[in-house]
Amino acid sequence: MSIPLKGDMEVPRCTNYSNCQLISTDRIVSDPLKKLFYINTYCTQDENAWSSCKRYITKAVLSFCPDFVLPDSLFTSAEIIDEFDRLQRDNR
Ligand code: SF4
Repeated sequence: MSIPLKGDMEVPRCTNYSNCQLISTDRIVSDPLKKLFYINTYCTQDENAWSSCKRYITKAVLSFCPDFVLPDSLFTSAEIIDEFDRLQRDNR
């Protein structure tokens, strides 16, 4: 167990942080600056921020999150399912 040094602050993190493909790959957002923007705006902020992330919401509702969904995507869950199905059909 580590003891926080004086002045150290625990960085808040989304509960999906360790499993989110946006964090662990460059596949979701290939532009490093854009990725950093999302991480700083959503992933390492308080619960109000990460719980408003569309990738977080999609995972909570659908139990998975397709790669095309970004934290600030405006799709509804129904639209995400439709687009996911369309991409699956097109890839056959
Ligand atoms: S805030 Fe969104 S993008 Fe960031 S780790 Fe959580 S689910 Fe992934």
